[in-house]
Amino acid sequence: MRVHVIGCSGSFAGPDGAASSYLIEQEDADGRTWRVLMDLGSGAFGPLQKLLDPAELDAVIISHLHPDHYLDLTGLEVFWAYHERTDLGQLPIHAPEPLAERLSAVLSREGHVPDGVTCSPFDYRVITDGHRFTIGPLEIEVREVVHPVEAYGFRVTSGDEVLAYSGDTDACPALDELARGADLFLCEAGYIEGRDDRFTGVHLTGRRAGESAARAGVGRLALTHIPAWTDPSVPLAEARAVHDGPITMVRPADILEVSR
Ligand SMILES: [Zn+2]
Ligand SMILES: [Zn+2]
Repeated sequence: MRVHVIGCSGSFAGPDGAASSYLIEQEDADGRTWRVLMDLGSGAFGPLQKLLDPAELDAVIISHLHPDHYLDLTGLEVFWAYHERTDLGQLPIHAPEPLAERLSAVLSREGHVPDGVTCSPFDYRVITDGHRFTIGPLEIEVREVVHPVEAYGFRVTSGDEVLAYSGDTDACPALDELARGADLFLCEAGYIEGRDDRFTGVHLTGRRAGESAARAGVGRLALTHIPAWTDPSVPLAEARAVHDGPITMVRPADILEVSR
């Protein structure tokens, strides 16, 4: 399993890249490559097109409905609705329940839809805590985490390879359970100890991400969701102070291998 980093800027697109979006690729037993997009935040639909033709996507999973995690679905929706290929079918979008209504409002879909346009390009599938589903060779477990809105993390398993993704969260037991023994723990560290102590129940710091990785016994910790106003070396040092295992700071266009 591989994870392509399309965007990893925390909370909003930054000068060096888009907000959160990751492409998971995995081959099945027949050699077909499956492509699942995990979040599509502000600014991410542009760089996604440098990586692949979006028509090749098999599904999208959305952690929560903050703009830095879902807003560029507006671009993907237009792409799918107006594409010259008429055999694309509906693209499955696994997301919190209000997504369809939110996108419809942003896209002004309540008005007239021109003839020839696929008016329902997305097949919305609601995710809830504890939900499990399969996309090709990928088994996905959903856990609710701690954030100001309904928010989820994902545990993605294929064979004996495990990817854990925090989404946006503060420290919580569900995060540790998602990450338990994962080969790659893609974990946000949007806050800094001290500077952001007045905000609780929103984001992890490098320290809290590192503590979760240590409790969960992960193979590798990859820190992400660093806002433009934060020096990445600070959350990285916080995590290294509390976790002995390999730790990296993700960058746009990185390719992360998920393996034992
Ligand atoms: Zn975020
Ligand atoms: Zn958020």
